[in-house]
Amino acid sequence: EREQLLTIAELPSVTPDGHKLILAANISSIKEMEAALSNGAEAVGLFRTEFLYMDRNHFPSENEQYEVYRDVVKMLDGKQIIIRTLDIGGDKQLDYYEMPVEDNPFLGYRAIRFSLDRKDLFKVQLRAILRAAVHGDMQIMYPLITSVEEVREANALLAEAERELEAEGVPFRGGIPTGIMVEVPAAVAIADLLAEEAAFFSIGTNDLVQFTLAVDRMNENISHLYEPFHPAVLRMLRTVTEAAKRKGIPVSVCGELAGDVRALPILLGLGIEELSLSAQAILPVKEGLLRTSAAESRLFLEELFRLPTVGQIRQAAEKFHAETT
Ligand code: PEP
Ligand code: MG
Repeated sequence: EREQLLTIAELPSVTPDGHKLILAANISSIKEMEAALSNGAEAVGLFRTEFLYMDRNHFPSENEQYEVYRDVVKMLDGKQIIIRTLDIGGDKQLDYYEMPVEDNPFLGYRAIRFSLDRKDLFKVQLRAILRAAVHGDMQIMYPLITSVEEVREANALLAEAERELEAEGVPFRGGIPTGIMVEVPAAVAIADLLAEEAAFFSIGTNDLVQFTLAVDRMNENISHLYEPFHPAVLRMLRTVTEAAKRKGIPVSVCGELAGDVRALPILLGLGIEELSLSAQAILPVKEGLLRTSAAESRLFLEELFRLPTVGQIRQAAEKFHAETT
């Protein structure tokens, strides 16, 4: 079956009615990068930089980071890569840095909050990215954004990093597009305002489901309530996509939901332009894509929005899936 899937790796990722969907990869190491390429990834939609910080006993220096980012972008040979700035905290801890002990680490000192508090460390990462961007098509993405201020503050620091490199005569690429993860309900609610600040949206359904439903994504006692097909989540996805369309910025999905073939008609129906998936999910999703009409997906989605329960939504998605296979 794997061999059969590999034969479709070379095919363009379009629906039977000609709608193009970019299938990109989520990467968190060089090894995963190789897997992504061999599975036909068209781009990297989410490069999780945490591993660089977790795999050692000190914060990685600018040069250490630069070398890894440069190697990764070179491996892509012109394909686009979106680098997400450090998303530490919550479940991801560093051995060499004592994070504050918190009652609710997922709601705590983490991700962009950490970076904006430790601008010294954040700037090191931004400088490394700007330098590596010389070698390919690189974009930057900020995690856990909840306000316009955070985006502006991060972009101001990026501009400062550019000015420094310029003054030092260090080669870098300026004017890189910066986008945001939409993974907190606040960001959904102000998606219209954030669309004015961000070059693109990438919807992180892993966290968005957790925060929308108030269900800890790691808690096994309530894992049955962790439900991406919840009507609240579908409405969130619609709000974000509509705001992006109105402003004309691209919107992608990079959470696990993107790798679920049963969600494909939903994402296609919404008009999502790119999915970023784990390497193993790329070909199964592509197989589904080659069979799923975008026009029918849009009609199907209208129907889904009239259904009030997860059970009914799941059943409808199951039925649609069975009819397309
Ligand atoms: C997400 O939250 O959906 C996401 C892609 O990021 P992570 O899983 O790294 O939090
Ligand atoms: Mg997340």
